[in-house]
Amino acid sequence: MTTEAPSRVMDASEYAISVGYEPGVILRDVTLTEARAMECNRCGDCCDTTSEHVLLDRRTGLPRFVWTKPGMDTSFELPEDRYAKRYGRPLIMPVIRGDGELVTANEFERDANGEEHRSFQCRALQATDDPDVKHCELYAHRGDADANRPYHCGAFPVFGLEADQAINIGGMYIPHTAALPRCTWHGIKIIREQSL
Ligand code: SF4
Ligand code: SF4
Repeated sequence: MTTEAPSRVMDASEYAISVGYEPGVILRDVTLTEARAMECNRCGDCCDTTSEHVLLDRRTGLPRFVWTKPGMDTSFELPEDRYAKRYGRPLIMPVIRGDGELVTANEFERDANGEEHRSFQCRALQATDDPDVKHCELYAHRGDADANRPYHCGAFPVFGLEADQAINIGGMYIPHTAALPRCTWHGIKIIREQSL
């Protein structure tokens, strides 16, 4: 899950495009306090980019949503080795384009420019009796979750320090939920408290 602040101060339109929104999108302004008071609906789309609800990048055919990209803040790299150490297999399964569909693979897909697209499925995501509600196996066991679950799982999409930093530096933070129309935090722009 990508949650980093932009590397330079961008205007709202540039910023929205940089996190995957279409040009001209209108985002709803909320404060960080309001954003953090919203509740996750547990759709699970941020943990599985093969979900039919995750929007695809027209250029690559891959989910627009990626956890992190080379060149971005490496503190967002996945600590999947800790999970693998305990459970014997990686937490994150890369997703690539198969024959007409998205399938899991051993490595992330790279485009012609060498850019790695970090679409993924998480092994900890479990189905429930309700098809619209997923369950994080690691979150359910919180004592262990903090040792195994990636930092971003708790930080995404508005709870990490990067949101505060982006607002302090550029006056706004746009969560990386552009490809997740079912997400509670889709379609919002977070601005300074006194701006509303
Ligand atoms: S560990 Fe849990 S919260 Fe994190 S990506 Fe996997 S299912 Fe989602
Ligand atoms: S996509 Fe948003 S609403 Fe759905 S599980 Fe992830 S954080 Fe929660």
